[in-house]
Amino acid sequence: MHLHVASITVDLYRDGQYSAKGSGVQQIRARVAGRHLAADRWLEVLNPYDGSEVGRVPACDPTHVDAACRAAVVALSRGDFPQHRRAQVLDAAAVLLAERGEEFARTVVLESGKPVRDARVEVHRSVDTLRSSAAAARTLAGDMVALPASARGQGRLGFALRVPIGVVAAITPFNFPLELVTHKLGPAIADGCPVVLKPSERTPISAIRLVDLLVEAGLPHDWVSVVTGTGEDVGAALVAHPVPRLVSFTGSIGVGRAIERAAVGKRVDLELVSNAPVIVEPDADLTRVAEAIRTAGFSNAGQSCVCPQRVLVHESRHADLVRALRDAVATLVTGDPLEEATHVGPLISPRETSRVAAWIGAAADEGAIVVTGGKVVGRLLHPTVIDQPPLHSDLYRKEILGPVVTVTPYADFTEAVRLANDRDFGLQVGVFTSSVATTLRAVRELDFGGVLVNEAPTWQVGQQPYGGARGSGNTREGPSYAVQEMTELRFVMLSA
Ligand code: NAP
Repeated sequence: MHLHVASITVDLYRDGQYSAKGSGVQQIRARVAGRHLAADRWLEVLNPYDGSEVGRVPACDPTHVDAACRAAVVALSRGDFPQHRRAQVLDAAAVLLAERGEEFARTVVLESGKPVRDARVEVHRSVDTLRSSAAAARTLAGDMVALPASARGQGRLGFALRVPIGVVAAITPFNFPLELVTHKLGPAIADGCPVVLKPSERTPISAIRLVDLLVEAGLPHDWVSVVTGTGEDVGAALVAHPVPRLVSFTGSIGVGRAIERAAVGKRVDLELVSNAPVIVEPDADLTRVAEAIRTAGFSNAGQSCVCPQRVLVHESRHADLVRALRDAVATLVTGDPLEEATHVGPLISPRETSRVAAWIGAAADEGAIVVTGGKVVGRLLHPTVIDQPPLHSDLYRKEILGPVVTVTPYADFTEAVRLANDRDFGLQVGVFTSSVATTLRAVRELDFGGVLVNEAPTWQVGQQPYGGARGSGNTREGPSYAVQEMTELRFVMLSA
């Protein structure tokens, strides 16, 4: 984290680009309380690939959080953003984002180090999420209540309206700087909830630009504020502020639990970590498995909460799968994330690279076999397959969040289920099998938010309910589900 103190005049150009007069560095003013912030303290955003400065964003503090929350209350109280307009704005934003897809993909690459091929997928999914949010806005309605089913209800009419919960505090992580923001803003806008958004300090630019795009699409200028800064300072102030009624958080388990403790009297929706398993049964098509893991395990350098991390394979196919993975992973290109050919770019920071490399080293010291990869070259950790990590190693037990896939053999499906369910996390699991009987057992016995058959656990579409069982969270995203979380039911009884 680097902090700059300067007073600089900033121009907002028509095409959404921002730059500072007389300076080579882009300064990107976040929208707070309806205005682009005239900051005199700035945070550097660094390119994870080469450490260069991508731009600067305002270094907000708790006074900005307070201004943003107050503005959100005013926006809500105006009552001038009806449901049909909210749907129109979300649809218009989806069109604009699709038109500017390349520009947004480039921003995602520069601030997160994600390969451009993955960044394009992220933009595409973000467009989908905005469209699904528009659909959710069009269909948002309450329920009839069958009052005459009780003698006391006879002759009366009862229904439950869905009313916006109020101002939403949204806090997002670094690894999907655009898509996860759309998963918070889309449903909140659909519901009629103003938002104060705290994006990751490492990847705030996509979020700032998305909110500007939403305003261009017709969002009231003060409906969403973006408070950029650190979690301890700005994030904690937002969680503690009396205005937000809901804290919607995606990120690590430690921060999620801290927010849960701090957000007294608020609803807290958590999307947390995983160390996603994949079960490979004897009847699985190994070519298909290897291809799915090659793609899913190493996209975004393995920095997704549902990247396949623990591949559990029946012992009869263990050696074959290890060979297939070695050969498939050897074809991945590691390098500059802006290059079209690159599959695997840098991790978000050199510190994270060192952490993952140390976990690999520790597992290898205890007998794990490094099948391929394991090397750090400059800022790049090469895609790695580890066979038989000790079950007590960090590599097996924790979330790696790096380009590493581990392989562990099992004796029968009962053991596979036990191993998969063994950790505290339960986001999504993949099961490769051609047996209907095994499929049915998997669906019944695997304690996860999503059970994907013949797919890697990374697979996702915006309209599905997405979220974790056990320690992986307490909510479901996907606009048609998230809109329920961001509303309250108001029961109405009519009597003549
Ligand atoms: P993180 O360190 O937990 O940070 C997430 C956000 O919380 C950031 O904006 C961070 O701010 C903020 N924050 C930190 N401390 C805070 C506090 N005391 N109060 C309020 N906010 C605070 O997570 P990350 O490293 O950015 O992201 C990776 C994690 O996200 C992984 O564990 C991954 O599994 C998880 N994730 C989960 C899902 C899912 O859908 N379940 C999806 C994607 C990622 P700063 O970082 O700016 O300081």
